[in-house]
Amino acid sequence: MFDTLQERLSGILDKLTGRGALSEADVDTAMREVRRALLEADVALDVVRGFIDKVKERAVGAEVVKSVTPGQMVVKIVHDAMVEILGSEGSALNLRASPPVPILMVGLQGSGKTTTTAKIAKRLQEREKRKVLMASLDTRRPAAQEQLAILGTQTGVETLPIIKGQTPIEIAKRAMSEARRGGFDVVMLDTAGRLHIDEELLAEAAAVRDIAKPNETLLVADALTGQDAVNLAKSFDEKIGITGIVLTRIDGDGRGGAALSMRGVTGKPIKLMGTGEKLDGLEDFHPQRIAGRILGMGDVVSLVEKAAQSIDAEKAKRIAERMKKGAFDLEDLADQLNQLQKLGGMSGMMGLLPGMGKIKKQLDGVDLDNSVLKRQMAIIKSMTVFEKRNPKVMNASRKKRVAAGSGTKVEEINRLLKMHIQMADMMKKMGGNRGLMSRMFGGKGG
Ligand code: GDP
Repeated sequence: MFDTLQERLSGILDKLTGRGALSEADVDTAMREVRRALLEADVALDVVRGFIDKVKERAVGAEVVKSVTPGQMVVKIVHDAMVEILGSEGSALNLRASPPVPILMVGLQGSGKTTTTAKIAKRLQEREKRKVLMASLDTRRPAAQEQLAILGTQTGVETLPIIKGQTPIEIAKRAMSEARRGGFDVVMLDTAGRLHIDEELLAEAAAVRDIAKPNETLLVADALTGQDAVNLAKSFDEKIGITGIVLTRIDGDGRGGAALSMRGVTGKPIKLMGTGEKLDGLEDFHPQRIAGRILGMGDVVSLVEKAAQSIDAEKAKRIAERMKKGAFDLEDLADQLNQLQKLGGMSGMMGLLPGMGKIKKQLDGVDLDNSVLKRQMAIIKSMTVFEKRNPKVMNASRKKRVAAGSGTKVEEINRLLKMHIQMADMMKKMGGNRGLMSRMFGGKGG
């Protein structure tokens, strides 16, 4: 999902990587491209404008955190702005009311409304142990009520028995009283859809709303329809008042425009997203995660965040350079340990970098938690400069002296020396990895 927009944005922002400073001209050029990419992804014009302005304002003249590149900095700014327009806070379904809690489902025909009704019911019943009743109020589309009954059988969620000839209002009333009588926690009301939005459809949904007084009125909208989905949400909200949006067919959405525009245009949160035809193809909508996916910048964002807190750019650069040359002594190791400690340990750092699972595995067994880091730094501090630069000279008597000086044991020194050899080895391998080097140290990499 979101592949197209992701590729475009990655390409644009990658070009910024490695520049010396974040100039207005650089930002302008990049933002022109970002703007085009967003419009091509069918993001609403107003949303694009607001977005670009926000990013520009923050990026131009922004102080680039020392240890990251301007490109990485802009990625972070773009990401944060994206999270904001997607809706910064994640929003769960509001079920806080005395049961039975009604949830009204509205939307166009074919948007995935009935499927989504069953998906939500299934999830509430399985994950939250709520007793759910589903009722189809769609008296127009032939077999719509039967479709929901079949989904009920598939998901193990009860459906309201079908009584032919009842009006949607009558069904809604019956569903509510049946739910009360049967001790249900939640009632899902699946209203009729239409091919196009029209007054009659909206009036019917509004009448049902007045009967059921739903806690949530969820608009189901097809992400593939891009801006149409957004306009639809606007009219539904004006006429019925929606509390949230479920964006379906995210699995097929190569553009991401609807997701990005929805919140900005309607002010209503996307609460859930449909990610497939199967009945468990439903996910919470997490703005952070979605922005990450749309941007496709892996974990550059969290890396920048952490770097902003701690890395010392000059030192990092120096180490990176030495590593490339294959020179990595105990002084470098001490610097490295220092930074690792700031970054939450080696595994914390490794976890941020895509594709690092393998190296992380190699480090298993090498204990790198913080207390160990501190002792290791003490050991290195107790060594002479000559020893630090030539770890090979560490014989038994030198080790004894350093152990006494640092309050550690000879075994710990042996372990440290062994780890140094392993790390120097690993660093050499990593030195050949251009992308990784630049990501880790914010320099030009290779
Ligand atoms: P309704 O007319 O709005 O009730 O739509 P339906 O629930 O009948 O769904 C129409 C079609 O869309 C069905 O074939 C569903 O399986 C499919 N569908 C629903 N949600 C999703 C989704 O999130 N992803 C995909 N790929 N298909 C979906």
